[in-house]
Order: sequence, then C-alpha cells, then structure tokens
Amino acid sequence: MPALEINQLTKTYANGFSALKGINLTVKSGDFFALLGSNGAGKSTTIGIITSLVNKSSGQVKIFGHDLDTQPGLAKTYVGLVPQEFNFNIFEPIIEILINQAGYYGIPREEATERAEKYLKLLNLWQFRRTIGKNLSGGMKRRLMIARALIHHPKLLILDEPTAGVDVEIRHSMWHFLRKINKEGITIILTTHYIEEAEELCDQIAIIKEGEIIENTSMKELLSRIKKETLVFEIKDHSTGIPPHIEEYQLNLVNTNVLEIKITKNQSINHLINTLCQHKIEIISMRNKNNRLEQLFIDLVKSNTPYMGKL
Ligand code: ADP
Repeated sequence: MPALEINQLTKTYANGFSALKGINLTVKSGDFFALLGSNGAGKSTTIGIITSLVNKSSGQVKIFGHDLDTQPGLAKTYVGLVPQEFNFNIFEPIIEILINQAGYYGIPREEATERAEKYLKLLNLWQFRRTIGKNLSGGMKRRLMIARALIHHPKLLILDEPTAGVDVEIRHSMWHFLRKINKEGITIILTTHYIEEAEELCDQIAIIKEGEIIENTSMKELLSRIKKETLVFEIKDHSTGIPPHIEEYQLNLVNTNVLEIKITKNQSINHLINTLCQHKIEIISMRNKNNRLEQLFIDLVKSNTPYMGKL
C-alpha cells in the first residue's frame, strides 16, 4: 500500500488564486522522496493539505490507505511534520516539549518520557533536555523539530526545507540521521532548495511548477538524462604548453592552475585522465563545475513548453 496517494488535488485560495491545478502523486512505502520546485510552485500548499493545515478545494488524499476526508484522525496519526518555521514553545524545557507533543497523540506520560529520552539521545540533544527552546542554537532547534515530529512514531515523515540555514556539519549529520530512519522503514518526503540535498538523499523525485507536477520519476532516471558535464581540474602550475585540444578533448585553461574540460556521457574519465598524464599535466584535484542535477532542474523549470523528454 502506498504511503501517500494524491489524486486530482486542487487548491484555489480565497483570493481566487489557483495554487494546485489537479496534481497526482504516489509515494511508495519506504521511499525517500524529494518534492522540488521554485518559490511559489505549490510545495507548501501540498504539504499543508497532506498535514491537514490547509483545506483542499477538490481531489483526494490517502495516507497509508486512509482517506483524509473520511478518516482524518487516523490519517493524521501516520504523519509527522517538520515545518520550516520553529513553532514550539520557546520557554519550555525541550524534554517537556516532546512529552507534551506525545500527549496530543494520547501517549501516556511514562511512555512519552521514554520516547522523549530516546529521540533526544538520537538527535544529540539529551544533555540539553532541561534547556528551554529559546536558548538552543539554530541547528539544535531543527533537530528538536525532528524529534518532536517523530515522537508519535509516524510512518511518513514530511520535512519542509529541513536544512535551510544550518551549517554544513549539521546538515551532514541530519542527512545521516534521515538516511538511518529511512532504512529503518520510515517513508520520507522532503522539500528542498538544495538540489544537492535531493540528489544525495532521495531515490524518487517530483518537480512541481505553477501548481502542476512536471516530472515524477526516479533520481537515477533523471540523472541519466544529463548528457554533458564540465570537469574542473586543479593542476600543478602549467603556464605554458597546454594546447587547446588534446585528442578529442577541448581544453580551457582558466588560469595556470585550473583546467576545464567538457565531457559527454559516453567519454571515459579514465581515458581522459590517462591522456592528461601522457601530456605531463599533473592533476591535484577534480570536481564537477556545476551540480549536475541543478542544471537539469533549471532547464526543466524554465522551459515554457511542457517537457517532452528531451534536453
Ligand atoms: P512553495 O511552497 O512552492 O513556495 P506555496 O505553496 O507556498 O509555494 O504557494 C503557491 C502559490 O500560492 C504562491 O503563488 C503563493 O503566493 C500562493 N499562496 C499561498 N498561500 C496563499 C494564500 N493564503 N492566499 C493566496 N495565495 C496563496
């Protein structure tokens, strides 16, 4: 049974603005799913409807088979939400925030306390259990929001821009944690502006644009459409003697230490590196010039015509 099934979902706000124009989406149980879109595309509206914070105009939403219209209470117990904004009581010790949240789901205090301990430890917040929310750092607040969303053991966790504004180290430890709970069976949907985050974590992806789903596929399939990339080599100082072409490769010596080379998907990186070595070019490091998925995303979203499967 899918974790989430959305059929012909529409949302027209009171001012007449049509934010969702009949979207269909299925998220399988166990997926790590990315919902991507530019600002104003309709991501928050979609998440708001799934989590019963926004009323839909028409269409159907089912969470693990439970229809939001006919079984709203039950459907809600399956979902945990980590919203973008911190919305806990900042004057409460964080362990109390978790215990009280569990109370909303009818979890007895003793069990709630055990669960709070478990999640505070898992998210490295245990030593701050008596600290009030106000005094936590930004990264700690975000981890607290995740702990709170998990306290009733949801099977579907939805995160709206989970790592916005957190530093690299915390982002990576959050990724590690999310991967772990996904492996343990929690289905995860996240919206993100960091395309790198979607590429790193998610196996399925949907792209929403102006209230319509324009892509819904696996990450692997999407990445396989990338046909060309630019590699940037840091090289040992090589101010003279690099020709504009070596064999089939077009070289662009950006400065004496940086060489850019475009390769297509069917060209072997091994062969390229061997060729450079034969020409006595000493490589110090290599990276992709752009995030590959990011470029693809920009191409998909900016095209005005419906996507026809070509780039
Ligand atoms: P995203 O999360 O992808 O940035 P949203 O779902 O927040 O997009 O918004 C989708 C569109 O709906 C935007 O154009 C936004 O301005 C509009 N919108 C959102 N909330 C309201 C509202 N309460 N009333 C009118 N329009 C709204």
